[in-house]
Amino acid sequence: MAGMRYVITCIVVSLSMAGAAPARAQTPAKLPVVATFSILADFARNVGVERIDVVTLVGPNGDTHVYQPRPADARELGAARLILVNGLGLEGWIDRLITASSAEAPVIVATKGINPQKMREEGRIGLDPHAWQSIANAKIYVANIRDGLIAADPAGEAAYRANADNYLGKLDALDAEVKREIAKIPPGRRQIITTHDAFGYFGTAYGFRFIAPEGISTETEASARDVAKIIRQIRAQEIPAVFLENVTDPRLVRSIAAESGATIGGTLYSDALSPPDGPASTYIDMMRNNIRELAAALAN
Ligand SMILES: [Zn+2]
Repeated sequence: MAGMRYVITCIVVSLSMAGAAPARAQTPAKLPVVATFSILADFARNVGVERIDVVTLVGPNGDTHVYQPRPADARELGAARLILVNGLGLEGWIDRLITASSAEAPVIVATKGINPQKMREEGRIGLDPHAWQSIANAKIYVANIRDGLIAADPAGEAAYRANADNYLGKLDALDAEVKREIAKIPPGRRQIITTHDAFGYFGTAYGFRFIAPEGISTETEASARDVAKIIRQIRAQEIPAVFLENVTDPRLVRSIAAESGATIGGTLYSDALSPPDGPASTYIDMMRNNIRELAAALAN
């Protein structure tokens, strides 16, 4: 999909150029950047703006945990001058794909320098890859991406620094906004059920408890025992709402809601942005959507 959109964009650009007067100055070629999933791609666009072309491997509403790479992805990686990955085990498929593509571009691990949280999955403790759900961490992603862009394209350093500073300021404002909205939710109601365990960092950053019937990854199915345990927990702790997620099957949450009596809140965007016409097509809109949905279900 991402590859196709790239091709279409190029055709539109060349058609519109055909009728225009010859360009005065030669526009420098844009730096080809590959991001593994939509949230990283949005960060990159905010830092690179007009100097880069970003190809996203796992597009809107896609599930990065279980993604199956296509041959076109290897070609994109081969053509890239910079590759952006989340790390912390989110993209279990990326190392093999990079090797298969003979890509030579540097790989930036956007979570480098964050303090990783641990999570339990199927009884084992592993690292939680969903670090972008804390805005303080998102700022570290942006700084890593900025530094990667500067190293790959030193001529753009001033632009990358200015764009990153501008965007980091917006993230500071967003962080303050999220804290203000959370403060409106009574502390005893700051706990919800989601379909997979994607909000651990959000919970730590903003004082929220998320309980998920699946483990760390969408690869693992919740067992009947897990589901029964969650339903008992909802009743015992009077958890007010269960939430759907854009990247997971809604049936599990619907059945938990029906059996437990909890209400179904809106859809939270966890691991992917929405398409451009959706409510969460950028990281900032994603966080705003999520906080709006939480407040609507829990504030009173
Ligand atoms: Zn996830």
